Amino acid sequence: METQVYSVKKMIWTNILFFAVTTAVALIGGPVYYAKCGISAPELMLFLFYMTATGLSITAGYHRLFSHVTYRANPVIRFLFLFFGAAAFEQSALAWSAQHRDHHRYVDTDRDPYSIQKGFFYAHIGWLIFWKHKIDYDNVNDLQKDAMVMHQHRYYILWAAVSGIVLPVAAGALSGHALGAFIFAVCLRLTLVYHSTFFINSVCHMFGKATYDVYATARDHWLVALLTFGEGYHNFHHRFPSDYRNGVRWFDWDPSKWLIRLMGFLKMASDLKRVSNFKILAARLAGENCRFSDILIKHESSEAVAAAVKALTARYAEVKSTLVRWETAALEYHELLQTKMAEHSQHLKKAGLEKIDAARREFRQAYMTWAELTSLKPSRLLQLSA
Ligand SMILES: [Zn+2]
Ligand SMILES: [Zn+2]
Repeated sequence: METQVYSVKKMIWTNILFFAVTTAVALIGGPVYYAKCGISAPELMLFLFYMTATGLSITAGYHRLFSHVTYRANPVIRFLFLFFGAAAFEQSALAWSAQHRDHHRYVDTDRDPYSIQKGFFYAHIGWLIFWKHKIDYDNVNDLQKDAMVMHQHRYYILWAAVSGIVLPVAAGALSGHALGAFIFAVCLRLTLVYHSTFFINSVCHMFGKATYDVYATARDHWLVALLTFGEGYHNFHHRFPSDYRNGVRWFDWDPSKWLIRLMGFLKMASDLKRVSNFKILAARLAGENCRFSDILIKHESSEAVAAAVKALTARYAEVKSTLVRWETAALEYHELLQTKMAEHSQHLKKAGLEKIDAARREFRQAYMTWAELTSLKPSRLLQLSA
């Protein structure tokens, strides 16, 4: 662990100046301008468009497409993500991805560029102010073969200035609101997109639920998901980074996932990667098991606790093995459908479906028995096991 995280020598003055100017214009210029001129419909629309386009280009583009390659996209989509991603002024897609891949690989260690172990402020914005490390591009060889990604990387300042400042101000000027466009669609938008993105590295590594991996610092936080086009389900994301979804349940607020799915529907994206529902369910159950055992162990240390944990572990092992049997039955059925035999044999199909159904019921039964134990108060469970 580095001994000195904060030092004047490490300060990146261009970043500090950029954050200071954009934040000051947004927080001081914004209210002053609003009080004098109000906000017109074109200004509001331009602001909302830029919030959405740049926000989604970071989440569905920089993050899920370029960093994790959770799907493939056609060149038009890749260009749009690079263009509006640059407008977010969060470095080139190549630099962003190289650091983000290191974040996943070395999470919480000194090689994690925005490690939460160095504190909330460092993970949030401190790493951009005090970070004088050299970026290691060895982990982005795949992206280095992409001519468009490399162009955006080499001429990043040009891309960012045109897409992030010149274009919105010019669009505002067309309706006679160049200054309003600069304040709202550039400075306020940048400030909001910055901090909502930064919340993922700070808030989502400190607060929220550890549903899929109880030992990870990454957490699922619904409020951050709301502010970041669905990126707040960070515990799921660290557990299954190759999945194009972050909010995995259908009702989880994840507009990036819906956009990717829409692009897939329109044939602009393909090869959308999903982790099997069985693996996700297994991770959830493992999380529940760890959490409950931890509560028991913390509750009291005695023979009764050991007996209770043993009883729970046996029930949990049963849940796991029934889940494996259910998954196997589903896989066998899926394989059957791939063969020619399935075309001729309704009988085989029916038998396959019945096997799945029986395995699912077995799992459900085992789960209910286990859940009954885990729903008990620790003291009650200890009484039963004594
Ligand atoms: Zn993270
Ligand atoms: Zn990630």
